[in-house]
Amino acid sequence: MPSKHITNFHSISLFLLKVMLVGLIVPLALGLSISLEIEKKELMAQLDDFHQRSLDILSKTAEDAMTSFSPEEARNMVSFLLQDERIVKIEIYSAVYDLYLLRVSKQTPEQHFPTLELKKEVTKDGEVLGYVLVAVDRDWVKPRIAKERNQVIVLFVTMFIGGLLLIAPAIYFKVLRPLNRLMRQVEVLSDGELGVPYRWQGRDEFSMLGKTLDDMRTKLDKTFSLMRDMAVTDELTGLPNRRGFYGEVEKLLWLSGRYKHPLTLAILDIDHFKYINDNFGHPTGDEVLKDFAAVISRRIRKSDLLARVGGEEFVLVMPETPVEDSLRLLERLRTTVAEHSFSHGRKVTVSIGLTGFYGSERLEGLMDIADKALYKAKQDGRDRVILGPV
Ligand code: GH3
Ligand code: MG
Ligand code: MG
Repeated sequence: MPSKHITNFHSISLFLLKVMLVGLIVPLALGLSISLEIEKKELMAQLDDFHQRSLDILSKTAEDAMTSFSPEEARNMVSFLLQDERIVKIEIYSAVYDLYLLRVSKQTPEQHFPTLELKKEVTKDGEVLGYVLVAVDRDWVKPRIAKERNQVIVLFVTMFIGGLLLIAPAIYFKVLRPLNRLMRQVEVLSDGELGVPYRWQGRDEFSMLGKTLDDMRTKLDKTFSLMRDMAVTDELTGLPNRRGFYGEVEKLLWLSGRYKHPLTLAILDIDHFKYINDNFGHPTGDEVLKDFAAVISRRIRKSDLLARVGGEEFVLVMPETPVEDSLRLLERLRTTVAEHSFSHGRKVTVSIGLTGFYGSERLEGLMDIADKALYKAKQDGRDRVILGPV
């Protein structure tokens, strides 16, 4: 079952996505509005400047017209100025004659211009001769700003998409994909699957993390298999211990029952072992146990199961072996032990109880029969093999 901690987190990818969008959109929007504001100011200043200059030129020209009532020159200037699309209205008023020398406007009922007006008095020797008025189209800047805005938007959208195309794959390949891989690796580990290796190439931080994690997995895997082995192995003799025996014997019984093949189970117990311990010391007793296990192991088949299930008590399970064959083998084992020279220089004998398996007995039942046969062997004087049930 995958760990809750792992499957419920996707925050970094979401966070990076948000940061990427905000990080691109905010500067772009800010840049857009600032550049448009600057452009608008520039255009307005340009219009103001033009407006003022037109007024100055006109008022100079108008001075003569006002005094001599000869508006010819002024009219020429006016028609020249009116050619400029920015100018909407021009007035030349003469105070000397108290009349408009000129009053032209592009305003019609159909076309209305919001205007900016500038008026200037025309004087000569301190005397007011009249005034000149120039009105310009206030909205002249509008289409220019709109055009500029469109250009800037196109530029910024291109930059945004370009940035996205560059940043998104970089983030995906360099961050999100290795992160996902690391998560899967951790997930597999958290499920306890220590045998699945994860290979990382590269020298970036994720690869380092991944490699370190895999090193940890390897060490854990080794430690666990060592612990598993230790848990089922007898340290002194290297044979399966009681736990190891129970882990393996059921399968042998099942196979034998399933295919109706003979199987024999025997319990071997060293005689008067306490005597060895008491008279030669515990380490000598250990040596005898090791020696005994080695002597027996050498004389049985690879398919046989020999386990140390107690202090000086062993179980031997012989698949594919009828009771008669087992009896012969066990007799041989008994005499081999009796004739073997152990390190302490004394004879060691073994008593054996055995029973055959005929397909339906339970392990406890078999052990019980073999144990009773062993007890009988001890009672009958030890150093003998007894077939149960007795
Ligand atoms: P019997 O002939 O009736 O089997 O007598 P025995 O002395 O062999 O049996 P008993 O059960 O009286 O004594 C077994 C002894 O084995 C007692 C225990 O201290 C000793 N023993 C158990 N495990 C070990 C071990 O790992 N090493 C050593 N040296 N002695 C052990
Ligand atoms: Mg004994
Ligand atoms: Mg015993």
